[in-house]
Amino acid sequence: MGNHKSRFSVPIASHEKWERVIGKTLNKRSRICGDHFLEEDIIDTWVSGQGTSKYSKFLKKPGLKKGAVPMVMLNLIKSC
Ligand SMILES: [Zn+2]
Repeated sequence: MGNHKSRFSVPIASHEKWERVIGKTLNKRSRICGDHFLEEDIIDTWVSGQGTSKYSKFLKKPGLKKGAVPMVMLNLIKSC
């Protein structure tokens, strides 16, 4: 489970890499939806504390792990 309908803008550091992977030109307004990322690359919970005091909450606005690259159903990105 996760918020797969989230859409992510292109991180500046990953711009060229994403373009190479996706095979299309991206700009600042390009958005790629969560369907194209591995679940583990999407950060949708915020965790605090450790052991018994550990708790987590869902983020309203999920983020991507640093260096995450779209790699799922890339052929569908054009209709994102
Ligand atoms: Zn999509």
